Amino acid sequence: MQQIRNAIQLDSYLLKESVTSTDLLLNKVSSNKAPLFNHSGFFYDMKAENFGAEKGTPPVCLVCYKSTHVKSDCPELSLPKLIDLPSVSKNWINIISNICGRVMGICVDIHFIFFLIVFMFPDQCKLSEEDIEKRDKILNYLQKEFEKCYPLCSVHGSGSAYNGFGFRQSDLDVCVLLKDQTEELNIIILEKLFRIIQSEPQKFRDIELVRDARVPIIRCIDNQFNIEVDLSVNNALALENTRLLKTYTEIDSRVSQLGYMLKHLVKICDIGDASKGTLSSYAYINMVIHFLQQIQPPVLPILQQLNDDPSNKNDMIRQCMESNVYFYDNLPKLGEVWVNKNGPNTLTAGELWIEFLRYYTEQFDYEKNVVTIRQFEPLERYEKGWFNKTIAIEDPFNLTHNLADKLSQKNWTLIRLVFIQARQRFGTECKDRVIQDSDIDWIQDYLFDRNVLLLENPRKLDKTNRQTAEPLQSLMGIRVDPKYYQS
Ligand SMILES: [Zn+2]
Repeated sequence: MQQIRNAIQLDSYLLKESVTSTDLLLNKVSSNKAPLFNHSGFFYDMKAENFGAEKGTPPVCLVCYKSTHVKSDCPELSLPKLIDLPSVSKNWINIISNICGRVMGICVDIHFIFFLIVFMFPDQCKLSEEDIEKRDKILNYLQKEFEKCYPLCSVHGSGSAYNGFGFRQSDLDVCVLLKDQTEELNIIILEKLFRIIQSEPQKFRDIELVRDARVPIIRCIDNQFNIEVDLSVNNALALENTRLLKTYTEIDSRVSQLGYMLKHLVKICDIGDASKGTLSSYAYINMVIHFLQQIQPPVLPILQQLNDDPSNKNDMIRQCMESNVYFYDNLPKLGEVWVNKNGPNTLTAGELWIEFLRYYTEQFDYEKNVVTIRQFEPLERYEKGWFNKTIAIEDPFNLTHNLADKLSQKNWTLIRLVFIQARQRFGTECKDRVIQDSDIDWIQDYLFDRNVLLLENPRKLDKTNRQTAEPLQSLMGIRVDPKYYQS
């Protein structure tokens, strides 16, 4: 009632005084005080300087949103200078090598103390037979359930649990293949499978259908083993790249050791989740394999370029989902087709780890090249048309997919910072104390000290979806609260 009375009062005032509602707004006259408004006092000269034009457009940084600088000068995109690494003792390299094994949770022969210790880390080490069995049980269960609807379907495990780089807490990526059995679209099939899983509340919880991903998935958690399950349909490429990575790990044990070291580093610094705008562990593993192929002499061959008969290129084609998924997998005969002219690479895991950090901080040309594991020759960005300002990583089979396409510049700076800090930490001998045999825990904490790796001032992860947030901000030239973009 009071509101209506105010409105009538205001209307009659406007009529009497011929005040426009714009005036009213500009002068912030509240409706119940409107009659006190003095119209004659309102005047504005439409000169450019009254709008601050002589100062030019105020700079707004699109990274930290401060108005004191532009993006190219942003302190959040600045990185510490690389300092020359001193030479280190054999003992220090042995310590790093032992940490490489320890991160995998395998038996470690600690040469520098001549003592054999078996380390057990319940959550941190590589998957055991028992862990694989649990995942296989889930696969068998899903196979039986889905067969009721699609009798000829096949259910497969993919991703880190099966590619040789899985941790005990790794989730289970499931791939359901139904090729040529139905005309239905993948999303329709996925919806049907979603309903089947939903009808089993005692078996799965937190069931969710993620439609807007590059590959739509069903996400749920298995109640019995507490394992997160990501299920996709007809994503045969996922099976092929799982097999490719697994094959690389079978060529040389140092491949897994470096992979686990990187995954551990990434986990500690929280920079390994593509859904949060950083990089997936699959992308990081591609970086490891690329490095091991490029180092001289190489640790790994390029399996996609090898063939029993190099003159017969037709043998090197295996079609799958419009991609060529051929790679050399006859490992017993690998020594015959892959000849290392300079002899085998004899560096230890510790030496390779430090070289890996040096390669991605000192040598790799991010502006010019793409990380690829499909060819030895440098792959240049212009060939792909990928000009993102971070890193570019080519999927080995889906050649149009840049595995870093969701990475923001801010998160890329954070990843580079971690690499720079890790290079210095691992590449400089610890002089803090004389290392005793009981110090292995301490050394691991020292090397993977999150505060040091993130420069003691952890910068906030940019969780915005770059593709929607950035153009909007640059168009508007204003600060948009990042919380509106957080998933
Ligand atoms: Zn800034």
